[in-house]
Amino acid sequence: MADTKYIFVTGGVSSSLGKGIIAASLAKLLQARGYKTTIQKLDPYINVDPGTLNPYEHGECYVTDDGAETDLDLGHYERFLNVNTSQANNVTTGRIYQSVIEKERRGEFLGKTVQVVPHITNEIKERIQILGKSGEFDIVITEIGGTVGDIESLPYIEAVRQLLWELGDNNAIVIHLTLVPYLSAAGELKTKPTQHSVKTLMESGIKADILVCRTEHDLSDDLRDKLALFCNVKREAVIQSIDASTIYDVPNMMLEEGLDRVTLQKLALPNETEPELTNWNQFIQRHKNPKHEIHIGLVGKYVELQDSYKSILESFIHAGAENEVKVNVEYIHSEHITEKILKEKIAGLDGILVAPGFGERGIEGKIRTIQYVRENNIPFLGICLGMQMAVIEFSRNVLGLQNANSTEMDDNTPYPVIDLMEEQKDITHMGGTMRLGAWKCSLEENSIVYRVYGEKEISERHRHRYEFNNKFKEEIEAAGMKATGYNPDTGLVEVVELPEHPWFVGVQYHPEYKSTVANPHPLFVAFVKAALNHYKEKNSATLA
Ligand code: GLN
Repeated sequence: MADTKYIFVTGGVSSSLGKGIIAASLAKLLQARGYKTTIQKLDPYINVDPGTLNPYEHGECYVTDDGAETDLDLGHYERFLNVNTSQANNVTTGRIYQSVIEKERRGEFLGKTVQVVPHITNEIKERIQILGKSGEFDIVITEIGGTVGDIESLPYIEAVRQLLWELGDNNAIVIHLTLVPYLSAAGELKTKPTQHSVKTLMESGIKADILVCRTEHDLSDDLRDKLALFCNVKREAVIQSIDASTIYDVPNMMLEEGLDRVTLQKLALPNETEPELTNWNQFIQRHKNPKHEIHIGLVGKYVELQDSYKSILESFIHAGAENEVKVNVEYIHSEHITEKILKEKIAGLDGILVAPGFGERGIEGKIRTIQYVRENNIPFLGICLGMQMAVIEFSRNVLGLQNANSTEMDDNTPYPVIDLMEEQKDITHMGGTMRLGAWKCSLEENSIVYRVYGEKEISERHRHRYEFNNKFKEEIEAAGMKATGYNPDTGLVEVVELPEHPWFVGVQYHPEYKSTVANPHPLFVAFVKAALNHYKEKNSATLA
């Protein structure tokens, strides 16, 4: 195909309508029709990236292979498309301004006054087109964060307006996602907020080509006619997006509504063939028809907000489908671990995952939980901080190293079994300076992880500053905790496990960032399987 086509996804009426899922679903359908598609997210906040944001602000920080700390929507893109994203797929206002200001300091603007229009808008346009110009994609979908009418979105909307004009008809279109609320007192769906939001978009010089309407009830024909007429879109371009029981249903719902067809038509691309969704639909079949149901505890300190552990939750869905089992994730606040919770709650679970995290809050609860699952043979997966806590627990309670700790929590610990990485010691800036992105890891042949991955060399994504302290390795291994994965170049320990336990694995990396519908992560698949075995053993009398 000659030139890349662009699709801009804007949002109106309210935030949290699921632009990311709509964008990912459309991308899935286009990909399933043979178009190489990628998605980009533009975020209007001033942080250079979400790496410095607390998960309570915007949920999980997702990490790409090339070490970008990004919005969690990129996780949906990768999970749906099974294609890697990169630094270029997430751009924030902070990043745009940083780059324009650096250019100004280098004198690149040759004495001009630097302004929002054209300098900021030019930078935005350039960032949007980087993916298109790479030649790797037929279609680039760019999701504009925020809601139209927000002050902070204005430069993005203006950049989109200019690009639509520059690229011309059939090369770039706008999909506007809005809410059609249901007023229960009147018993009616209301179109007015959508009309207003389309009008706001028009005031910025942009006409929506397609309307996707989030709704709790089916849109009647009359209502669709009304929306088409008042919002200036073709009748077939009014797409209903009704609440779904799982986000993985949305691509098929959009297919039924014809979102991909009308999109291709507007882009003057062939749309006759049907999308090839066999594998996707097999996954949904397995996901919806589990043979067993298990309960896994997720111990973390951000459990009040589900988005904080998005990729972990989705990985359980993929691994559950693979094992034909429904995984119920039970949230356990690491600050609220008591002996009662251990005996009445954790004892009854089929597996425990101790989550990643930063700082001291809740770590003693994590350590106590790990001791309990270690002593009671409950399958365990520790991720990043969870792995570090497993090392601390083992050092304290098996080796007897009293007050062993990570120097992140206690600078004066007599036994710093987890310590700041050497290359981190001189770092003063917090943004983008962790050990990030994909790193190689070699696995010991006689280990759980080697059996799980089925290969010796793997690559996984990281996001941390602290590491297993190799000074304690001999002692820890002699006592029974084995380091079974390490970085081939530096010897950094990446995996620990307990051969004497039915299934106890801690990983310094984040397997959850690489689990997709097409490729459920082997470590989650194996952990769910171990939990299922634990469940079956516990219930062997009743299951027989
Ligand atoms: N706080 C720990 C570190 O920086 C763990 C980080 C994490 O769990 N992502 O090493």
